[in-house]
Amino acid sequence: MPVKFPVVRKEWSRKIRASHDLRGVTTHPDAMAGLHEHEWTITLIWVAEYNCAIGFQRDEHAIEQSWGDHLDKLNGKNLSELMPLPATSENLACWLLLDYCTRPSDQEVSYELSGLRVTKDGHSAEVMRTEANRRAWRWFCGEMA
Ligand SMILES: [Zn+2]
Repeated sequence: MPVKFPVVRKEWSRKIRASHDLRGVTTHPDAMAGLHEHEWTITLIWVAEYNCAIGFQRDEHAIEQSWGDHLDKLNGKNLSELMPLPATSENLACWLLLDYCTRPSDQEVSYELSGLRVTKDGHSAEVMRTEANRRAWRWFCGEMA
């Protein structure tokens, strides 16, 4: 029987500070505040096999150099101007996973994300990369799924 590797779920987080403006989206107090900043914790998720002899699945240093630098570019930005849909935690998770954090480069395809979680003020929204989620997101962004 061929030897199989264990599948582990690996998570890596980065905090960013960025603003959003949800006026007109809901009557939630956060939306009535107009443009304001939050600290957002972005957690990248990989579910993949790893080689026990090597001992790790995704190398943290490589993650830092690729995804870390990419996420840092969002510091100080107005997410509502960048995103095609209201900048809620749920939409931010989808936008980051399916639009902003596609593979860092052709050489780094193995670092493509399995999922992503956005945490703000004690609540989280997590989305996994599935074909159904991709098609739904594209449809709501006004593109043919
Ligand atoms: Zn807010």
